[in-house]
Amino acid sequence: MWPLLALVLGLAVGSFLNVVIHRLPRGESVVFPPSHCPACGHRLSALDLIPVFSWLLLKGRCRYCQAPISPRYPLVEALTGGAFLLVAFRFPPSLEALFAFLFFAFLIALAFIDLDTYELPDGLTYGLLGLGLLYQALGGKLAGGLEAAFRSAGLLALVAGYGGLVLRRGRDAPKEHPVGTHQVHLAALLGAALGGGVGMAAGFFNWALNARLGKPLALPDPLTLGLFPLALFLRSDPLQALLDGLLAAGGVALAGGLYWAVRDRLVPPSPPLGAASPTGEHREEEPVAMGYGDVKLLGALGAWAGLPGALLALFLAALFGALFGLALGQRKIPFGPYLALGGGVAFLYGEALIRAYLAWLGL
Ligand SMILES: [Zn+2]
Repeated sequence: MWPLLALVLGLAVGSFLNVVIHRLPRGESVVFPPSHCPACGHRLSALDLIPVFSWLLLKGRCRYCQAPISPRYPLVEALTGGAFLLVAFRFPPSLEALFAFLFFAFLIALAFIDLDTYELPDGLTYGLLGLGLLYQALGGKLAGGLEAAFRSAGLLALVAGYGGLVLRRGRDAPKEHPVGTHQVHLAALLGAALGGGVGMAAGFFNWALNARLGKPLALPDPLTLGLFPLALFLRSDPLQALLDGLLAAGGVALAGGLYWAVRDRLVPPSPPLGAASPTGEHREEEPVAMGYGDVKLLGALGAWAGLPGALLALFLAALFGALFGLALGQRKIPFGPYLALGGGVAFLYGEALIRAYLAWLGL
């Protein structure tokens, strides 16, 4: 009974996710108006809204105007149903299973919105992060969840930092005011050299200083990122130094990202009036520089599945990305859907996969 119940619930949730995927990026309400045909505007009846089956019965066409309906709709429904079914096989009916359903609903919405818009909405990435922390808190593991979230986010923030540095051929990135990737890289360096708390404090101090001074002061990336590997070996335990650096970087990255997410909601993202503002010229570049969508998503995955789970998700995402990339050719595909897929696998089967791998290594 339980798997069947989960499947039906998943199909229904998938139908709702189609609405979320379509409307959320447009800033429209996900509850009103009721579903209608995008071609003819006819309001859809209950008979048109049975997940998967309506689409099959109507042979993929609108009942009222015969316009073709994208196979994406039944696909999202079937995918959500399938994910919920796997959750039911993995967890008995419990609060844990309910959280797992939410986890997959968020991942599927994020994956398809990223496919459509090349963006991972902050509401969903931070929502998933918050739910993951709540999930850990209920198990008495809030501190561990937060640490894993910071380290996972910090890892991808540094990968992005080095990637950007290579793409710019070693030149510094434009500085953001009051907080941006420079503060993240500073936190990583000092975190690795002096401990996670010190690194995070340095990043936040730099941020506060910039806010106070009204200009973006920061150490250049070639310096902070260049010294980071050396800082690891200042400490007796380079692995701990790495974990501390990632912790500090991720903490500042997630906090800075949250600042921009809230700010963009309060202040419309148009350039401020008056050329004297140091922020004006870089305003356009912020979504790229401190966009960090994948960083926030991996942070959220860390909160749910721990640092090993997030590492596995990242590895699987890179693997899937390479395989699908080869299969699909040159078409540009965002990384978010692969991360979501890797995260889903890591959440359900991570421990088993890691245990099997260690056994295979003979550990
Ligand atoms: Zn129609």
